[in-house]
Amino acid sequence: MKPPGWADKIHGHTVPAEGPYHVQVLHEPIGVAGQIIPWNFPLLMFAWKVGPALACGNTVVLKTAEQTPLSALFAAKLLHEAGLPPGVLNVISGYGPTAGAALASHMDVDKLVFTGSTDTGKIVLELAAKSNLKPVTLELGGKSPFIVCEDADIHKAVELAHFALFFNQGQCCCAGSRTYVHEKVYDEFLEKAKARAMRRVVGDPFKKGVEQGPQIDSKQFEKIMKYIRSGVESGATLESGGERFGSKGFYIQPTVFSDVQFKELDEVIKRANTTRYGLAAGVFTKNTDIANTLTRALKVGTVWVNCFNVFDAAIPFGGYKMSGQDREKGIYSLNNYLQVKAVVTPLKCLAWI
Ligand code: NAD
Repeated sequence: MKPPGWADKIHGHTVPAEGPYHVQVLHEPIGVAGQIIPWNFPLLMFAWKVGPALACGNTVVLKTAEQTPLSALFAAKLLHEAGLPPGVLNVISGYGPTAGAALASHMDVDKLVFTGSTDTGKIVLELAAKSNLKPVTLELGGKSPFIVCEDADIHKAVELAHFALFFNQGQCCCAGSRTYVHEKVYDEFLEKAKARAMRRVVGDPFKKGVEQGPQIDSKQFEKIMKYIRSGVESGATLESGGERFGSKGFYIQPTVFSDVQFKELDEVIKRANTTRYGLAAGVFTKNTDIANTLTRALKVGTVWVNCFNVFDAAIPFGGYKMSGQDREKGIYSLNNYLQVKAVVTPLKCLAWI
């Protein structure tokens, strides 16, 4: 059974310091937590941010992405109806360079927690530094490797590689967008992966059986089409998709490029780590030695072994390198919202006078 939550379990401790002192370490709320969230999982990002901030006793000012303002407003209304006092949770709908920047640089905001692109992460970090040096937690972009070893169950690996890449129209920070397949199983994997992408049902996401809807807006649509064109122009082999799907709306055909295989573990580790990102990775093997080697060698915040996109409120999430700093969820998320205060008291108050 799951433990019922953190709100009544956050407390400090005492430290057995040298000398006749009683040393208490208090965990206190930081104060006002500013939070900026993206559009790709608007309600989930709201939950990951608001839950721990409130559990630690902070107040919150959260800015939604301009594309997706409604779900957070509705959730805030429900929290208000459930009895959250006025002013504890404040939701702002607004644009990034105005409302987002104002929050990041505000002198009365004591902490900033941001999820979005790496480029914007750098901007808010700078704004925080130039204003009141508020500490900043960043959850940024990724380019996650998905590694299929020679002993993997190919059918499952194909299905999970497909899910890892195309889930939420591919609009996922941890999308497994670089699939590496061992040379011994490469041809079989490629044939099946290509067939699976071509079978993917694209269309109105409100219709039963549809697996993939449109991209969020024209900007994202154009960005993805540009990446596809650049892949083709730089000589990668296009195996499926690559075009707009239909004639209206921001639909894109499920697209697979090929020619990414490996022979030795060292080679795939090097290639998997050759990126400025380090958010997540998938590893497919039945061999525990290989799994242990890869999980230790990959410079990423999450490694899924024989699975992908397994999220739970208790599992920490966040990135190495330019995928971010700090972790959200579970016990680690509390560190983002607590101040630590040491209180030192002589055991015999006047003994030293
Ligand atoms: P984005 O960085 O453009 O926008 C994210 C948020 O930042 C939005 O609310 C936006 O209004 C705000 N913003 C934009 N410019 C700003 C500025 N100058 N000052 C302050 N705030 C500003 O990101 P996007 O491309 O719209 O969102 C998708 C990105 O989020 C992807 O890169 C994805 O990988 C990332 N993401 C990461 C995680 C994670 O946990 N690591 C989770 C979900 C999404």
